[in-house]
Amino acid sequence: MSNTDFAVPLATVRIRRSPETADFLGLDSLLTDDERMIRDNIRAFVPEQLLPHVCEWFERDALDPGIVPELGTLGGLGMHLQGYACAGAGAVAYGVTCLKLEAGDSGLRSLASVQGSLAMFAIWRYGSEEQKQEWLPRMAAGEAIGCFGLTEPDAGSDPAAMRTCARRGGDDWVLNGTKMWITNGSIAEVAVVWARTDDGIRGFVVSSDMPGFDAQDLHGKLSLRASVTSELILDDCRLPGSAMPPEAAGLSAPLSWLNEARYGIAWGAMGAARACYEAVLDYGLSRRAFGKPIAAFQLTQAKLGSMVVELSRGQLLAFHLGRLRERGAVRPEQISLGKLANVDAALAVARDARTILGANGITLEYPVMRHANNLESVLTYEGTAEIHALAVGRAVTGIPAYR
Ligand SMILES: Cc1cc2nc3c(=O)[nH]c(=O)nc-3n(C[C@H](O)[C@H](O)[C@H](O)COP(=O)(O)OP(=O)(O)OC[C@H]3O[C@@H](n4cnc5c(N)ncnc54)[C@H](O)[C@@H]3O)c2cc1C
Repeated sequence: MSNTDFAVPLATVRIRRSPETADFLGLDSLLTDDERMIRDNIRAFVPEQLLPHVCEWFERDALDPGIVPELGTLGGLGMHLQGYACAGAGAVAYGVTCLKLEAGDSGLRSLASVQGSLAMFAIWRYGSEEQKQEWLPRMAAGEAIGCFGLTEPDAGSDPAAMRTCARRGGDDWVLNGTKMWITNGSIAEVAVVWARTDDGIRGFVVSSDMPGFDAQDLHGKLSLRASVTSELILDDCRLPGSAMPPEAAGLSAPLSWLNEARYGIAWGAMGAARACYEAVLDYGLSRRAFGKPIAAFQLTQAKLGSMVVELSRGQLLAFHLGRLRERGAVRPEQISLGKLANVDAALAVARDARTILGANGITLEYPVMRHANNLESVLTYEGTAEIHALAVGRAVTGIPAYR
């Protein structure tokens, strides 16, 4: 008996692909008309502005910042902030935007997250009126890019171990130190950096044209390649006294802003997962083996079924966090849970999706391995999976096991 003896006659395999299978539970109906409009506004941006270039950028380990103003025009930068030319959208609208951007590439969502949730949010929340007027409208329009420098070569999960210091030089501040793994670093006009002072850790708004400020790109990444990741070098970087927003004191400030970005990741990771799922659903229905589509095999359907489960759970979770957030009722450990669970889920979807593609799965022709590789960074940045598990652990036990 040959393999083809097991083949199902063509006529017996009826292919009927649901048009909205990535939204298996019909979660779209939970969105308001405004949220749907914002989502649709951004939806065309990814296929038109990103997808034609992303493979080349991924190969070159680069991103063309020319894409940023277009994203600004669509209101996609700092969209959840009020005033200063920001869109003032709600948390769910911001979340669905992150999902759409990351369905294109995690690098694009990272750019928007760092810009809106870290750099702009820091200035919006703690900056002086002068800093807000100077930076926020231009950043919202994508005319100025921002970055956020907390991590150092020897201080990542434990930012309290940072060495970068700021000392007084007359009325000025003089900063020395190195920040590592900084998204948008070399393309940023403004950096929000953290440094140790005699008064504890403080934030500084640093214009990148200040003498003593330099940014060098990090290369050799195997993940998040369509994204700029840099080292920031502060070498006697002299800043006016006004560069330090008075309220940006202690680590609680940057850690609370990271919650902003982590919330976006809970949504964004679902975008990467959806892109993987949709790519392999189409592939599975058209690729044939043993006389029938590979999507007709039970093992393939089990994988597709578990992807639908992960996607449905993850999107529901993100949606719930968004509504909690809109009521001002979300707790940091709930956002930790969202980031932890949804990045894990997205990685599981990407891993299964890659197997369905067979050898094609290891190429850039399909988006799956690009997303899978990107998600390894997403797993680590904005708090590693381990640290978020420990944040949940602390919430349920009252014991901070990460110290
Ligand atoms: C692509 C990319 C972009 C980034 N962008 C930015 C940015 O824009 N700005 C910025 O400031 N940073 C950025 N980061 C840095 C990122 O936030 C850090 O990498 C992250 O916080 C982890 O720090 P680390 O790499 O030093 O790992 P480490 O802190 O050295 O951790 C290494 C391992 O030890 C584990 N570990 C550490 N402490 C504990 C503990 N107490 N209990 C259990 N396990 C523990 C970690 O979970 C991890 O598995 C970026 C990173 C990447 C990869």
